[in-house]
Amino acid sequence: MTSGPLDFLTDSLAKLEDDRLVMDWPTLEAPQEPRTVLNGRPVINLAANNYLGLANHPAVKLAAAKALDRYGAGVASARNACGNLALHDELEARLAAFKGVEAVLVTQTGYVANVGIFPALLGEHDAIVSDALNHASLIDSARMSRAKVHVYAHGEVADAEAKLKEAKASGARRIALVTDGIFSMDGDIAPLPGLIKAAEAAGAFAYVDDAHAVGVIGKGGRGTVDHFGLEGRVAIQVGTLSKALGIMGGYIAGSRDLIRWLEQRHRAQFFSASTLTPADTAAALKALDIVEAEPERIARLWARADYFREGLKSLGYDTGVSETPLIPVIIGDAAKTKALRNALMEAGVFAVAVTYPIVAEDASRLRTIVSSEHTEADLDEVLDAFARCGKSVGAI
Ligand code: PMP
Repeated sequence: MTSGPLDFLTDSLAKLEDDRLVMDWPTLEAPQEPRTVLNGRPVINLAANNYLGLANHPAVKLAAAKALDRYGAGVASARNACGNLALHDELEARLAAFKGVEAVLVTQTGYVANVGIFPALLGEHDAIVSDALNHASLIDSARMSRAKVHVYAHGEVADAEAKLKEAKASGARRIALVTDGIFSMDGDIAPLPGLIKAAEAAGAFAYVDDAHAVGVIGKGGRGTVDHFGLEGRVAIQVGTLSKALGIMGGYIAGSRDLIRWLEQRHRAQFFSASTLTPADTAAALKALDIVEAEPERIARLWARADYFREGLKSLGYDTGVSETPLIPVIIGDAAKTKALRNALMEAGVFAVAVTYPIVAEDASRLRTIVSSEHTEADLDEVLDAFARCGKSVGAI
């Protein structure tokens, strides 16, 4: 290979290899189901965000197929040009009713939803008070807005209050308080009642990213704001269609003015001709139908999650502060975490190893997500593998 200006990457990659921080992407070779095939191996899958088992649901697939047939594979246009389908409007109206808000803007992904919000609303004279473990898309959005960011200790209402005061004292024109609803690496729930009260006292607006909460928590899966009875007190709620709903896409829920403004100024949406496809949009609508018609899926999800978390704990694993179906198995050391991931894979169980820089260097973990469609027998098999493999790599 000839030398070139990107040669520094060879060294950077070698360093990642040395530190065992390189991530290899496995290949999914069958539909996303609780039991699937990864890298040619049948596995019980604990890595997907398929909380309600909708990713490969026959009715969802049929709705997608019909929309594909009727409207084509894609729309080849931004929505503000000529890519806006009645199906998109219908999905937005459905989501607005589901979330109990005035209006919704559907975006290509949850990441896109977040990344365009702060730059559309805030600038260098403003402040963002942000949980230390907020999702990367919120961090990127905050950076792009050029507002001053005040980070508070994870889940600490008193520290959020202090940072809100600090932002106010600095003369910020507008202040946002932003938090994940359910945290994506720890599975804990944000203390929203205290946070919202603090935001209101400081004259800040609240923004909750419920990517892991929609379809999982709250009445009928309406999310953390509903769970805590805080309807009407959170200005912005973001959600995704890529997790419990099993498809792809994101959305922003709030007031009519907020959505109208974002239709004009949300750059990540506005400047992209990659519009949610007809098939994705119809699939999401059908997935919502199922969430609403079959609440027993959510009940089953929580029962399975409690069963699995207790099983892990009784084996001696540390599941941190998880209180939801997103359950980390915290190992600490990155090499040991990867060894456990590999041993489990050999045993026919797949979970994602999460290491630095996604989590702190001494907080490497396997992230597991339970689905309503895992059976207790599946989870018993998984726990058995965790017992054997954990002992063999010295993780328990
Ligand atoms: N926010 C949070 C908290 C997330 O966990 C994720 C997905 N990892 C996103 C936003 C991004 O959503 P999407 O997958 O739709 O891009």
